[in-house]
Amino acid sequence: MTEVMILVVEDEAAISTLIQFTLEQAGFVVQCVPSVEAAQPLLQARLADVLLLDWMLPGLSGLDFIRQLRNDIRSRDLPIILLTARGEETDKEQGLNLGADDYITKPFSPRELIARINALLRRRAPQKTSVPLRIYGLELDPQQQRVQVNGQTIPFGPSEFKLLHFFMTHPDRIYTRSQLLDLVWGDHVFVEERTVDVHIRRLRRGLETVGHDHLIQTVRGSGYRFSP
Ligand code: CA
Repeated sequence: MTEVMILVVEDEAAISTLIQFTLEQAGFVVQCVPSVEAAQPLLQARLADVLLLDWMLPGLSGLDFIRQLRNDIRSRDLPIILLTARGEETDKEQGLNLGADDYITKPFSPRELIARINALLRRRAPQKTSVPLRIYGLELDPQQQRVQVNGQTIPFGPSEFKLLHFFMTHPDRIYTRSQLLDLVWGDHVFVEERTVDVHIRRLRRGLETVGHDHLIQTVRGSGYRFSP
């Protein structure tokens, strides 16, 4: 399965340790930091797939951070789950209104946490899940890491596979190189945009062997689109 990176911002060490253990057991890659100030440079370097964000933090609060992230085009769509100890409905509403995708009230069970994260990924980042896909003549099985056309398997490297998985879950939309770096590789700082072109070329070459390279379209001055 594709690697899923979860950034956890939680200042209570005991809770943070428990979350880290739970998520790693479930196969996620986890980074834990105790404050928004510590999370900012990490997200700047690499966009996480999911942000688990505590509400009450020293320094900037979880709500301040959500406001900040939603105002930035790069993190506008970052899936965020707010962790809150508060039971008040109005507080939860405030969090959701500001742009959190979901919230979990502490204390929560490991099972509930994993279920919420998976539900959010299915909704917001389907390229990170292992649901088999079939679109425009291509069949992709994330669990087997296999792409087929009419029963014929096309051999792809891990990067081309990830890129195609993303396209097949986001068809008919134009993505810039920078967006693809963030959304497919989670990284817009350490990987050059030209790298995207290299993988696009390999992807097309593979699809060409089954006559489907037209599905990867260059949109001049903008980026790429997966479309018939
Ligand atoms: Ca706290």
